[in-house]
Parts: sequence; structure tokens; C-alpha cells
Amino acid sequence: MAGKSFFVDTTRCTACRGCQMACKNWNQNGASATKNLGSHQNPPDLDGNTFKLVRFSEVETDGKVGLYFFPDQCRHCLEPPCKEVATGYVDESVIQDEATGAVVYTDKMKEAPFDEIKSSCPYNIPRQNAKSQTVKCTMCIDRISAGLKPACVKICPTGAMNFGDRAEILKMANDRLAGVKAKYPKAQLLDHDQVRVIYLVVDEPKKYHKNAVASLPGALDKVV
Ligand code: SF4
Ligand code: SF4
Ligand code: SF4
Repeated sequence: MAGKSFFVDTTRCTACRGCQMACKNWNQNGASATKNLGSHQNPPDLDGNTFKLVRFSEVETDGKVGLYFFPDQCRHCLEPPCKEVATGYVDESVIQDEATGAVVYTDKMKEAPFDEIKSSCPYNIPRQNAKSQTVKCTMCIDRISAGLKPACVKICPTGAMNFGDRAEILKMANDRLAGVKAKYPKAQLLDHDQVRVIYLVVDEPKKYHKNAVASLPGALDKVV
């Protein structure tokens, strides 16, 4: 499987939110209305102006509170269910870039029903913006076509966000997993054979985010 991939090493994430801000900046997405939900997560969810969101979770286990950081974004599925649903309504509403594998929504997406697109996504990613366009992370296809790294990768100061050829990223992810496994027996890569955004977590995925792994059983089963 050629093309590009991300490796998101949550063990290195400090939740600085630089990636979230860089994404907003590059995509010229404005601020989002927000409210205090009792955590540092801000805004509370992905939205039409927020394609990348650093999620914060506090989970109590055996009397100890653990803090979990999860920089959430579109996974750029190898066989994207959102594409299957959208193109069932409108041809070329979703394209997969040949060189990178990026899953990109085109202008024709506005003719496809948003609710069905959103509910088809196993990671609950697509949102609508103020112009009623269905939007999400583009893999910074405009940047990488010009030889630049995605904005969220470029800004990350800790090495949590990584991007490159899929084979190299898979090797990086597996090497890092092997390196942390002795200390963290629950360490795992999430859905790594089905997506291009590969997360390393060191505890149960649901402690990080309820949609950390594909939440629609069978949605990605066509992938071999
Ligand atoms: Fe985590 Fe890097 Fe994003 Fe900061 S920029 S929140 S360290 S992934
Ligand atoms: Fe589509 Fe969701 Fe997969 Fe992104 S994560 S490609 S929005 S199905
Ligand atoms: Fe945002 Fe680009 Fe990163 Fe996607 S790849 S989350 S669009 S900065």
C-alpha cells in the first residue's frame, strides 16, 4: 500500500494544541463558539471551523486519575465509508488522491446528504460549516503537493505528529510500539491496517476518546 501516512505518538503529546491552531491557521478557519465543559478541551468538539481537535480525558482507575490526550482528525481511511456513501449520491464528491491516498471532499459534496455522510464515518469526523459545506481534514493536500509537511506535523514540537511514506511510517510506528511495550503492556496501534492516520496509545483506546477506534462494526471490513 503506497501513498502517505501519519504516525501520531500520543506518548509524546503534551496537549499544547499547536497542531489544532496550525490547522485552523492554514485552513483559514476562524474561532469557534465555545463553552466550559469542565475540561481543558476547547472547543468542545470538532466543528465546521475545527478539523483537528486535541481531546482531553480524565479517567479514574483504581483510585488514580489518568489524563489522556488525543489529537483527533480524519483518519484518511484506505477504503473510506464516507466516500462510498457520498459517491452513491454524487459522482466525484469525494476523491482519493492517487499519489498520497488523501481523502478529499470536492465542491460536489454539497449535493450529498450531510447526515448520511456523518453517520457513515466510523470515527465521527465530518462536520458542516456556516456555508453548509461538509468539511474535515484535507491531509493538507495543497501543502504536501508543494513538498511541504502538513501544518499540524510541521508545528508539533515534541515529535508526536509524524508524516511520510506509508512504509516508513508503519516501520516508525511498529518500532515505537516495540519500544514502549515492556513499560506499557496495553500499548497498541489503532486500526493501523485500515487507515492512514495511525495512533499509538498505551492504555485502553476508549480512555482516550470514545471514537478512538472504528465504532461502526464492519464499516471497514472490506479492507484486506
Ligand atoms: Fe500534541 Fe504535538 Fe499537537 Fe502539541 S502539537 S497537542 S504535542 S500533537
Ligand atoms: Fe471519511 Fe471518516 Fe474515514 Fe475520514 S475517517 S476518510 S471522514 S470515513
Ligand atoms: Fe489540519 Fe492539515 Fe493536519 Fe489535516 S493535515 S489536521 S487539514 S493541519
